[in-house]
Amino acid sequence: MKRGGQAGRLGRIVCLIGFIGLLELESGWEAQAAPQKERTVCLDPGHQLRGNNEHEPIGPGAAETKPKVSSGTAGVKTKRPEYAVNLDAGLLLRDRLHEYGYRVVMTREVHEVNLSNRERAAVCNDAAADLAVRIHADGDSSSKTQGMTMLYPGLNKYTGGIHEESRRAAEVVLPEVIAATGAVSRGAVPRTDLSGFNWSEVPTILVEMGFMSNPREDELLSDPDYVGRMAQGLATGINKYLSEPVEGEPLDMQGEMVLSQPARLFELVEGRMLRTTLSLSPQTVWAAEVRGEWAKIDTWVGERWVHLQDEPSV
Ligand SMILES: [Zn+2]
Repeated sequence: MKRGGQAGRLGRIVCLIGFIGLLELESGWEAQAAPQKERTVCLDPGHQLRGNNEHEPIGPGAAETKPKVSSGTAGVKTKRPEYAVNLDAGLLLRDRLHEYGYRVVMTREVHEVNLSNRERAAVCNDAAADLAVRIHADGDSSSKTQGMTMLYPGLNKYTGGIHEESRRAAEVVLPEVIAATGAVSRGAVPRTDLSGFNWSEVPTILVEMGFMSNPREDELLSDPDYVGRMAQGLATGINKYLSEPVEGEPLDMQGEMVLSQPARLFELVEGRMLRTTLSLSPQTVWAAEVRGEWAKIDTWVGERWVHLQDEPSV
């Protein structure tokens, strides 16, 4: 921050420093760069090589049971099984999310697994995921039925803790995928009958990417360009859902700031900090403004923000 400021202002700054965890040094100010909270997305590409018709409870403590995992649908034109389409999309989405710096946990990365819907939910629960995304494709008796649906847990006796956040996720992510693909939107739809939702302890959504019973959509779901745009749209939406509201008013604080670790760059969009795919290597930067736990800096791509660590660096 600026050296040689008035004593009154310095006092105010030092007080704030304690709050945001900056250290005053002889040569300037040091902020530990942005090891922002690790955020985890869990991806569950639906189905597997062979379905498993053994039964499991539909939710914690339930007497009612359903098959562990069904075999899924298949392309009316491509003949590709749904489990293959789902995994291709899931792996692309994993790669896109890695670019934003998310930790990604996959329930499966191969077809030869035997994982029930309850077990898949447990993988995401154990990962303490900030969001679990289930990836599926649809089927219908009519070859004309088309479009993308974003399912989320409706309110029932199992989903009270995740229903609201899951609905918000569905409503944030769906428009982004629709914009990226041009697919027909069938809306965000609550479901209370899915074991995978009932067993989830973390917010969760299920994207039905399109209808494999529709020849046009079946072909699109095997078109690398289309699936790439879908993965990017999902990643954009997930990143938007996981963006953080900025607390507090802008502070008139300026000065040099030492980034001692690689720092993810964020954009301030509609009062929320949105991750970009860019980071800065350790270096000294000029902070033009501080707001809550964030500092604004000038970069080669324009004005961006870095997250200030809560703990002093030494
Ligand atoms: Zn499915």
